[in-house]
Amino acid sequence: MYLYNSATHKKQEFTTHTPGRVEMYTCGPTVYHFAHIGNLRSYIMEDVLEKYLRYAGYDVNRVMNITDVGHLASDADTGEDKMLKGARREHKTVMEIAQFYTDAFFEDCRKLNIKTPDVVQPATGLIDEFIRVIQALQEKGYAYFAGGNVYFDTSKLERYYIFNDHDEEDLAVGVREGVEEDLNKRNKNDFVLWFTKSKFEDQALKWDSPWGVGYPGWHIECSCISMKYNGEYLDLHCGGVDNAFPHHTNEIAQSESYLGHPWCGQWFHVHHLNTNTGKMSKSKGEFLTVSLLEEKGYDPLVYRFFCLQSHYRKALVFSWENLDNAAVTWRKLIDRIAALNPDDGPVDEAVKAKYEEHFRTVMGNDLNTAQGVTCLYDALKAKTNGATRLAILDSFDQVLSLSLLEKAAEQRRKKAEQAKNARTSGGYTVTGEGDPAIDALVLARGEAKKAKNFAEADRIRNELKAQGIEITDIPGGATWKRV
Ligand code: AMP
Ligand code: ZN
Repeated sequence: MYLYNSATHKKQEFTTHTPGRVEMYTCGPTVYHFAHIGNLRSYIMEDVLEKYLRYAGYDVNRVMNITDVGHLASDADTGEDKMLKGARREHKTVMEIAQFYTDAFFEDCRKLNIKTPDVVQPATGLIDEFIRVIQALQEKGYAYFAGGNVYFDTSKLERYYIFNDHDEEDLAVGVREGVEEDLNKRNKNDFVLWFTKSKFEDQALKWDSPWGVGYPGWHIECSCISMKYNGEYLDLHCGGVDNAFPHHTNEIAQSESYLGHPWCGQWFHVHHLNTNTGKMSKSKGEFLTVSLLEEKGYDPLVYRFFCLQSHYRKALVFSWENLDNAAVTWRKLIDRIAALNPDDGPVDEAVKAKYEEHFRTVMGNDLNTAQGVTCLYDALKAKTNGATRLAILDSFDQVLSLSLLEKAAEQRRKKAEQAKNARTSGGYTVTGEGDPAIDALVLARGEAKKAKNFAEADRIRNELKAQGIEITDIPGGATWKRV
């Protein structure tokens, strides 16, 4: 597979430390609020990547943290603790907030067909490990104690900026607007490994440590959780592009200083979901959730489909109009799949293998999901029987996870149900959701139309409309549904 690597700034062949096995790490959610659909864009694309690697034959060990402590509002070491902010907003304890939003996150993932990683580790469950690594960093001379906190000393590194597509000055902490400088820091980019001097009087979560009672910095959790569950060599690290600096940069600094050798070979960053007013973010307070999409009548998988239609390395603009377009395309796609006959003969394995090879090639080219979606249409047009086309679609769906065959089967069942409920009179057939009283009225409307009694036909249509029933004329009759 070829993947763009943000650490080398080029697309390159993906390799692993142990042949055939991928150690994969994903930065998990900060659980002080619902995940917004921007966060979930990142998790959808990472899920597709994991499933593609498995499809391509790799054995994958995927690890993810849950940030339930230490993530301050600025992503650096200043601002308010995000968890505390959530707890105060809802008059609950930090742990109650963490549990509630962790459950909510996995519920959203379930609705979007995002697989739960093999290991999920909340940061608060591994504090001893963080302390052990911080101590080791101090012993090796990479960390210092100042003003009550332990800092990582970035001047000890040969190279700090890894993802430096950016302007150094813009990235420097303390230079950024609204971020106050911490005078304990020896170098502008040093960052906190352990806090004992909290600016928050009501800091709820605190642990004993060699440096006093306190809590860990945000960056150390991902390094430690990955090193514990992925081992010393990480093959693939994922996250949203906003995590590249300072979070991932600091993860590399800590992990490589601790291990004494290169740590992670491949960095995969998903670009942002934006609205017309900029990046969607939790801290802005106004954001879209999966539940909101459902309330508005969208199947969450329409959002997944919308995400797959564009490349992960391009910003994606969300608008209701764009989502509606995806919904229409999705509905037509499911209808076309539903129209295939699953029982029209044996699956032609040779044809299937040919289509799979093409799918592997396009997806293996920096995870080109838009072309992966095009492969679905190619499969629909394949010169073979329905059973083979369905088997090909099912195969692609192991990676795309759009529940295509389930949705199509549902559609087929609905159509069969409607056909069963069809009522025919004088060559005019009514199909609908299976209510004889409504069928009879729709039939009466058909008869009125035939007799050119349009006033009566309109009266019946309006009567049904008032009951929330919509009639659509089709060749040889009409069909109805509740709207
Ligand atoms: P957080 O819960 O804030 O720690 O973020 C969880 C994940 O979502 C991280 O990988 C972020 O980089 C990513 N993320 C945050 N905002 C967006 C966005 N607007 N679009 C895509 N990914 C995002
Ligand atoms: Zn992380």
